[in-house]
Amino acid sequence: MISEAMTQQILDAVDAAFDEQLAATAELVATPSLRAGEEAAQDLIEERLRGLGLDVDRWSIGSPELEAHPGYGPATVDYGTMTNVVGTAIPAQDTGRSVILNGHIDVVPEGPEAQWARSPWDAEIHDGWMYGRGAGDMKAGLIANLFAFDAIRRAGLALTGRVHIQSVVEEECTGNGSLAALLRGYRADAVIIPEPEEDALVRANVGVIWFTVRVSGQPTHPREMETGFNAIDAAYQVISELRVLEERWNQEKDQYPYFEDLAHPINLNIGGIQGGDWPSSVPAWCEMRVRVALYPGVSADSAWAQIEACLAAAGTRGAVPFDVVGTRDGFYAEGYVLEPGSDAELLLEETHRAAFGRELTSFTTPGYLDGRVFVGYADIPTLVYGPVSENIHGFDERVSVESVRNCTKSIALFLASWCGVTAAD
Ligand SMILES: [Zn+2]
Repeated sequence: MISEAMTQQILDAVDAAFDEQLAATAELVATPSLRAGEEAAQDLIEERLRGLGLDVDRWSIGSPELEAHPGYGPATVDYGTMTNVVGTAIPAQDTGRSVILNGHIDVVPEGPEAQWARSPWDAEIHDGWMYGRGAGDMKAGLIANLFAFDAIRRAGLALTGRVHIQSVVEEECTGNGSLAALLRGYRADAVIIPEPEEDALVRANVGVIWFTVRVSGQPTHPREMETGFNAIDAAYQVISELRVLEERWNQEKDQYPYFEDLAHPINLNIGGIQGGDWPSSVPAWCEMRVRVALYPGVSADSAWAQIEACLAAAGTRGAVPFDVVGTRDGFYAEGYVLEPGSDAELLLEETHRAAFGRELTSFTTPGYLDGRVFVGYADIPTLVYGPVSENIHGFDERVSVESVRNCTKSIALFLASWCGVTAAD
């Protein structure tokens, strides 16, 4: 760790700019960045990175190389106009360790707005919480990266190691944004991703697969319903079969370190359903959109093979066999474990203590994280660590303002100690 005096200078610098940081966060939350609509928000990030004096690289993420990568999730949107933004600072005296500060710009749909207590896009602060879609997941963290970096300069110091600040797309659906940044050539000695993680460090997390199941039926007039085959009724059978697979995977949790103590680590979500064409026609089709998790150490290919076998079995179980087809159309991502004891983690323990006044804890999360890109394909210690939040992906999402302040401090102190600092010119 750096000296106590420098530590105090950096903590003070974060405090001094914190109102400005909240305003920047609110501006970003108030700029919706749903899938394939992230460009206005990325414009804001680009402008801020340039304002911090970083060299900016912005590119649309699609490429044959990306599509050929084993960690690529099949995309259902056009990547031609979807960009990643990366700001790079290479110091004149480049003698220290390097770091990537990563965050995702995309947010999930807000759902029926009438069920929010306020607009999902007003970014208001009440009683110590900032509200809005993406406030916690993860615009507060993304802006915290920028202000942590700038706190070093504000403290009258200069980093002596390379820093890349990444704002990526596609974290909520494929993980292809961070993967594209890796394929662009960005590497460092450590990665920090301030996702909403309860002021704690993610030790292990699941992989995720997305797929669509299409069930085919036989349409008839309901007056002769017995001669048709109802694809929507059949979809219930498919769901039951998938739930059996889900329970089997959950019963295997003892085989996977860090997952034994979770009540239900593997969650299968039927996230969407549609089917049929007409109330007076027996439905000829039903489609369901599904998300399921897999343990670290289970390959996506192996999990997918089991899912396909499960779907095939569902189509033959009943009195009448039917067609059921699964198609991958998003995440095809494996989980990872952050092995304890890295230099990066040991340093974070110290900076967390300095910022929060208490010990760092770690935990296992049954959700997808882009950390899998850096850990799985580049072997970089990756610290997914960020603020306290509530209702991410739900109504009235919110992030704790004081937690954001302390996380920013912890990350700023990490930068100073990891990269090294000198007095600024
Ligand atoms: Zn997130």
